[in-house]
Amino acid sequence: MSLEINQNQPREEPEDNPSPYLTALGQFQSIAQRLALPEATSEKLKFAQRELIVNFPVTMDNGTTNMFTGYRVQHNLARGPGKGGIRFHPDVNLDEIKALSMWMTWKCALIGLPFGGAKGGIRVDPKLLSPTELERLTRRYAIEIKDFIGPEVDIPAPDVGTNEQVMGWIMDEISRDRGYSIPGVVTGKPVSIGGTVGRREATGQGLSIIAREAMKSRTLVPTKTSVVIQGFGNVGMHSAHHLTELGCKIIAVSDSSGGVFNQNGLNMEQIFQFKDSRGRFQDYKLNCETITNKEILGLQSDILVPAALESQITKTNASSIKAKMVIEGANGPTTPEADLILNDKGILVIPDILANAGGVTVSYFEWVQDIQRHFWGREEVNENLDRFLTKAFQEVANTAKSDKTDFRTASYLLSVQRVVQAMKDRGN
Ligand code: NAD
Repeated sequence: MSLEINQNQPREEPEDNPSPYLTALGQFQSIAQRLALPEATSEKLKFAQRELIVNFPVTMDNGTTNMFTGYRVQHNLARGPGKGGIRFHPDVNLDEIKALSMWMTWKCALIGLPFGGAKGGIRVDPKLLSPTELERLTRRYAIEIKDFIGPEVDIPAPDVGTNEQVMGWIMDEISRDRGYSIPGVVTGKPVSIGGTVGRREATGQGLSIIAREAMKSRTLVPTKTSVVIQGFGNVGMHSAHHLTELGCKIIAVSDSSGGVFNQNGLNMEQIFQFKDSRGRFQDYKLNCETITNKEILGLQSDILVPAALESQITKTNASSIKAKMVIEGANGPTTPEADLILNDKGILVIPDILANAGGVTVSYFEWVQDIQRHFWGREEVNENLDRFLTKAFQEVANTAKSDKTDFRTASYLLSVQRVVQAMKDRGN
């Protein structure tokens, strides 16, 4: 048996590109100061309540055994069970998962969902694994974290590098372990085993609802609005689809291989077909120019949607952003220094905890349906998603106006206060 150890190395960051956890902490601390939170409360919220690291072996198809490192972090559970995705990516580390779990705490509170914040992941490049290796990896990880998750404890969902199938395997493994079917242990699973209609596209659909409200607030007409999208996975692709339905013109899109650009608008039917057949944009040549992931952020457009990974807009490139609005599809795509630069430039930034909350909102609907064993139709999902997100947008816009502040600060003011209230009411 050969063992290849995957070390838990923190991600190496260039100087201007802080760790996601430092970004999350910086954002929280500035709000804690503004709210004059008691030192003890602020200290509690700086730390994750629970951090689990698991190292486990997986047998590869060629008979060798590799070691993998996985995580599950629960930042704060005052408002309910933990909720947050599972990421399979070669850069996953504890620092990143802690940041993502803290953002989930604020996101759930902002939308008014009865959840705390959590996140998990495995340090692995899933593209290098065969389907059977991916299944063995997922099932083993599920068993390693089994005492940490459950419908009343912490409910994972898909994130970067994971999908409905991965959620299906986790649901099956936990159900086998407990001896009966537990659909509510994960969300974002296939509809055949208790998933909900509308979860797959929910984050992109939610982003388009928030974009619609943001355009209204700035009197932008969707049919005259151009959009650039960095990242074309679950979030980027479904955002593109729903923004196209609103009438927006998508002028540039990218994936990890690079991007494509047409000032007059890309042919999105062709792009969707190309992506359905698993194409990479570096090979897409139909009626467009190629562009790098760095260049795509600086394109002239009305809306920029970063929908790839965190720390994409930094103090180095923020001054070159020319969009009127940045709508954050990814979690943590803008560093705090970059945020200041964008605000100074008068760019409206709709923060991740509002802009990409459609996914967790429909995950909440899925959890409710699983508990009740009563399943909704698409119309019910769509109507409720629209209602939850429009309300959250209005609350943030009203707070931004009354407190004369930006949308991120307004979102954090609302969500941190809600979490602190829950802690207080529980006597914590
Ligand atoms: P995904 O794995 O489906 O897609 C990621 C996309 O980003 C792919 O197109 C990939 O090629 C591209 N990408 C990776 N590195 C890149 C880079 N350096 N530059 C440009 N593109 C790059 O992941 P996803 O589920 O779409 O998640 C994307 C972001 O949205 C993450 O920050 C995630 O945490 C966040 N998010 C996801 C959900 C969800 O429901 N899936 C919900 C809320 C937030």
